[in-house]
Amino acid sequence: MSIPSKLPQVGTTIFTVMSKMAQDFGAINLSQGFPGFGSDPVLLELVAKYTLEGFNQYAPMSGIPHLREIMVEKTERCYGVKVDSETEVTIVSGATEAIFSAVTSIIKPGDEVIVLEPAYDSYEPSILLSGGIPIHIPLKLPDFSVDWDRVRSAVNYKTKLIMVNSPHNPTGYLWTQEDLNQLAALISDRDIFVVSDEVYEHITFDGRPHLSLLTHPVLREKTFVCGSYGKTFHVTGWKIGFCIAPEALTKEFRKIHQFVTFSTVTPLQHALADYLKTPEHYEQIPAFYQKKRDLFVDGLKESGLSFTPAEGSFFQMASYAHLSDMSDRELAERMTKELKVACIPVSAFYHDHKDDKLIRFCFAKEESELQEALGRLTNLASLF
Ligand code: PMP
Ligand code: GLN
Repeated sequence: MSIPSKLPQVGTTIFTVMSKMAQDFGAINLSQGFPGFGSDPVLLELVAKYTLEGFNQYAPMSGIPHLREIMVEKTERCYGVKVDSETEVTIVSGATEAIFSAVTSIIKPGDEVIVLEPAYDSYEPSILLSGGIPIHIPLKLPDFSVDWDRVRSAVNYKTKLIMVNSPHNPTGYLWTQEDLNQLAALISDRDIFVVSDEVYEHITFDGRPHLSLLTHPVLREKTFVCGSYGKTFHVTGWKIGFCIAPEALTKEFRKIHQFVTFSTVTPLQHALADYLKTPEHYEQIPAFYQKKRDLFVDGLKESGLSFTPAEGSFFQMASYAHLSDMSDRELAERMTKELKVACIPVSAFYHDHKDDKLIRFCFAKEESELQEALGRLTNLASLF
């Protein structure tokens, strides 16, 4: 029997592959992005409380009102923007679902979608499954900023959507006000929408603010902002997030969401609604991660790799182009097997596996684990 694959190019994701290899070879796993520490016991106890109290049946399709309402307060507090809890906020089963449902609600066969590469791996399949055509625009080396001239020249009457991600995985780049203004100027008179993946919204460094696309009046009207509580509160396995979009977009978004998952884990929603009442719970996240980033980049200098410290996200990207022309995949595999430190080859974030000799480390780990990994990385030269 032959099955006509809808995604013939797709195999197992690099995150699964490298995590498995880390496990098989007993390596420190700085590959797949997940925290190596627990969440706040206060949050965990709230989940226990709500499960035991019987909040275990289907939640409302768009999310429990209490959580949507607290998201209105949080959005106003963080970004100075008032959104409507009834018509603009939807609770979903992870940002991956938000991205999929947003793309699906807009894209029809033949529509073009601009994807800035390197890009997170779920964008491309989401676009392809709707018959959309991804138009890949590389970010500009060495800082991975957006090449606005190239984006402008790619836009035509078929362009329906632009995928945005800031803070950026894997480069750590943070969008500037100029980036927001450029995007707004580009789409203001066109029927082009935006999916803004802001899952690392609370992980920014050196006092830099995260500029949500919600803060720009033009972008606010055309954007699905996708977020993830998993990233913010160190619970990636919970797969719970949100989508904030104007009423007309939310209406279409919910049509898809209700047939992808219908609704999202009930006790988690109640727990998060209570937990989010205390803004310190998310306001202390930048300082928490700043320490880890600083420790990691300080130690990484000893490895001989070249890099610019990440501005946001919990990833540090680094180049070995000056050290070797080994493929990034081979280097990642050899690092895992021989140095016992696993990372991600950045070619996995390009549709054509472009290899710029870059690797990505996740520094969302305990300090002791980071120290141990950094010690091992001082022997990197032995691989070349
Ligand atoms: N976007 C980016 C850039 C990510 O790194 C991740 C993490 N897996 C996601 C989306 C997905 O988030 P979630 O786990 O909430 O689905
Ligand atoms: N977002 C995570 C990363 O970039 C991986 C999530 C996944 O395994 N799908 O590493």
